[in-house]
Amino acid sequence: MTRIPLISGNWKMNLNHFEAIQLVQKLSYELRNHDYDAVEVSVHPPFTDLRSVQTVIDADRMLFHLGAQNCHAEDSGAFTGEVSPAMLGKMDVTFVIVGHSERRALFGETNEVVAAKAAAVATHGMTPIVCVGETLEERESGDAQVIVEAQVRGSLSSLSGDQLAEVIVAYEPVWAIGTGVTASADDAQLMCAHIRSVIASVRKSAADKVRIQYGGSVNAANAAELMSMSDIDGALVGGASLEAASFARIVNFKDA
Ligand code: PEP
Repeated sequence: MTRIPLISGNWKMNLNHFEAIQLVQKLSYELRNHDYDAVEVSVHPPFTDLRSVQTVIDADRMLFHLGAQNCHAEDSGAFTGEVSPAMLGKMDVTFVIVGHSERRALFGETNEVVAAKAAAVATHGMTPIVCVGETLEERESGDAQVIVEAQVRGSLSSLSGDQLAEVIVAYEPVWAIGTGVTASADDAQLMCAHIRSVIASVRKSAADKVRIQYGGSVNAANAAELMSMSDIDGALVGGASLEAASFARIVNFKDA
């Protein structure tokens, strides 16, 4: 089974819409059409930037996908400050990150909340990027696989069988996010293989199709080794996605 790697840039709460337009324009200068032959690319700006970035991608026929960083599970209603998957779908958003560890830790998102969001995203024809990953304490106590398995089972539990096969899972060890410390390629591969086996136990036919990204201090120097692993199908990139040249080098990891 060939799985096309997906390289996603999570901009987090950075860049206003003027800066966002500049970044996508720089990125499109850095990447040539053939760079997309064997890889998919998505950028995930803050909500306030989405419409501007969508317009530029459209007008200049850029080949990367538009993504969002979060959404609510409901289509509409009295949820002040929230953005619905129905709204994102209307903006040509392709991928929506759900359950990022920052949302789990800082905004109290449980596996149940993440499951509802993932199902809502899929129902609106977009692809959820479902984040899982253990903390340093959980890794040091030897519980990492158990914790991640529970997150995978819980966070994917509301998807239909067909939706499950299309989902992206991002394995992001919390201790590697924004720290400059990356999981070794072997450790990342071990966990991604475990995630695939958990998915196989739910629906065997989905496991080979599901793309599993690694995230956590990915940069131009470590991307190629991580991506050479058999169960790693791309990267979710935070800090290094804010600079066009470094993100482009990650997209072109095969040239490293
Ligand atoms: C992330 O935001 O998901 C992430 C992995 O960040 P960084 O690449 O900066 O570690």
